[in-house]
Amino acid sequence: MQEPSDFGLEDVFAAQTRIKGTVNNTPLIPSPFMSRAAGAEFLMKMELMQPIGAFKLRGAVSAVMALPGDVTGVTCCSTGNHGRGVAFAAKRRGIKAVVCMSSLVPQAKVDGIRALGAEVRIVGTSQDEAMAESQRLCDAEGLVEISPFDDPHVIAGQGTIGLEMLAQRPDLRTLLVPLSGGGLAAGVAVAAKGINPDVRIVGVSMDRGAAMHASIRAGHPVEVAEYLSLADSLGGGIGRENRLSFPLCRDLLDQTVLVTEEEIRDALQVMFFEDRIVAEGACVVGQAAVLAGKLGALEGPIGTIITGRNLDMSLFLDVISGKDVQLGDYLLKGKRYGS
Ligand SMILES: *Cc1c(COP(=O)(O)O)cnc(C)c1O
Repeated sequence: MQEPSDFGLEDVFAAQTRIKGTVNNTPLIPSPFMSRAAGAEFLMKMELMQPIGAFKLRGAVSAVMALPGDVTGVTCCSTGNHGRGVAFAAKRRGIKAVVCMSSLVPQAKVDGIRALGAEVRIVGTSQDEAMAESQRLCDAEGLVEISPFDDPHVIAGQGTIGLEMLAQRPDLRTLLVPLSGGGLAAGVAVAAKGINPDVRIVGVSMDRGAAMHASIRAGHPVEVAEYLSLADSLGGGIGRENRLSFPLCRDLLDQTVLVTEEEIRDALQVMFFEDRIVAEGACVVGQAAVLAGKLGALEGPIGTIITGRNLDMSLFLDVISGKDVQLGDYLLKGKRYGS
């Protein structure tokens, strides 16, 4: 695998060429409410408008299009947006996609991935068993596993968001990036800082189960407990053997910040009632950090990424209407917007 030190802006430009025609160049739109709250122009990159409803299509298409011509299929274990991206990308290229998941995955997620043309293989009752099956498929059937974040082509694909944002608004000074495995933040940081080294990049995660934040603090990849969160797409670890997204995030992020479930709830309500956007909890962690006063005065214009819209609508409606919601053993109290 590529070393972090030789991964750079030219890799992101190469990905931009590979994904052209499959991935949308999405709008960057202002939020008047957030601009007033932040005291600087606040812009949102609308990645929920990708064909699969999330930015992960960029990394998946970048990786699948970079495979050698003799590869007949790909595999992954993601039940979320990465699984959708890999399914869509494989279909585009005309190769097979097998998405492995445990029998505990909700039927709606299984159906969503199947509808995109992937074969779903249900194995065991844990993510570990699904991962073992994915590995077996690589060995036995010659499929290639696509990592959701720790792969140079995936990171380069996500980085094309940074290229587009800086092309749309060369004056951007601060980027607030939702942070989980760090493929998005690493790619965007390489791209944005490659174009303008003065751009400040802030990674934002939920405070319960923030693996990259904890790993940067520790100086090496660490495992953290997992919790249910309104920002469910930000859950999961970064991998003990992380090669690329960890060192890139460690070296390129100016800051990482954590937000609470209450702060995510408030920001989801702002995005709904003020910006009139329906999107995942993972999208508003940047707004949540600004609204909670966790970032101090930021230099503008500020950009953030509305990363996806593949959400649980009944949970969303409860949050928006001010009902209590149960997140595992955590009770998130409801709050009516404006009260
Ligand atoms: C995957 C994902 C993220 C985080 O991306 P990483 O590369 O894992 O840091 C944020 N938002 C959504 C909607 C996602 O699917």
